[in-house]
Amino acid sequence: LIGVDAARVTPGASAAIALGIGACLTGCDQQRIEALPNTADMPNEVILQRGHHYKYDRCVELAGARLVEVGDTEGTRPEEIRAAIGPRTAALFVPAHLDGQNGTVSLADVAAIGHEQGIPTFVDAAYMNYPVEIMGSFNAQGADLVCFSAKYFGGPNAAGFLSGRRDLIAAVAAIDFTRHAGDSA
Ligand SMILES: *Cc1c(COP(=O)(O)O)cnc(C)c1O
Repeated sequence: LIGVDAARVTPGASAAIALGIGACLTGCDQQRIEALPNTADMPNEVILQRGHHYKYDRCVELAGARLVEVGDTEGTRPEEIRAAIGPRTAALFVPAHLDGQNGTVSLADVAAIGHEQGIPTFVDAAYMNYPVEIMGSFNAQGADLVCFSAKYFGGPNAAGFLSGRRDLIAAVAAIDFTRHAGDSA
């Protein structure tokens, strides 16, 4: 309906951030999924511009990732993002409502830098849902995963969804039911 490749319902946008970032760490690798939140054996750094710090960015760390802030309150340069990317980088993170903040690198440019290096960009667009066409626009700008909260479109609390790349949505599906209930231990 919003013109994206794939999507999956999540229990809210906070959970979407935790699950979606988790998927960026593990892909569909079952050993990595079972290891979470222990991320010692996988890339676990998520890059955020200092000017994009906001209260929900803590959800990035719930699955075991570590936030790495680049730049300062005056802004961030594209070179600083490139320099921060290394073998432990798992994702780039952009809160959509802060895109275009003074001195920050735009979502389209962040996503392009990520794609140069094969790193996915995650966007929190929790309340960016009107007009409805806007919901697909973040993927169109290069975002690989985008989350929305149903609390902003008449749905119940603890509801929302993730949209984006088919392989990452498949990884979210693999991670969001880890079958602990079926274990005899
Ligand atoms: C409300 C909100 C969230 C969390 O959404 P829930 O669905 O309540 O988990 C995340 N990001 C932003 C920008 C929000 O406003």
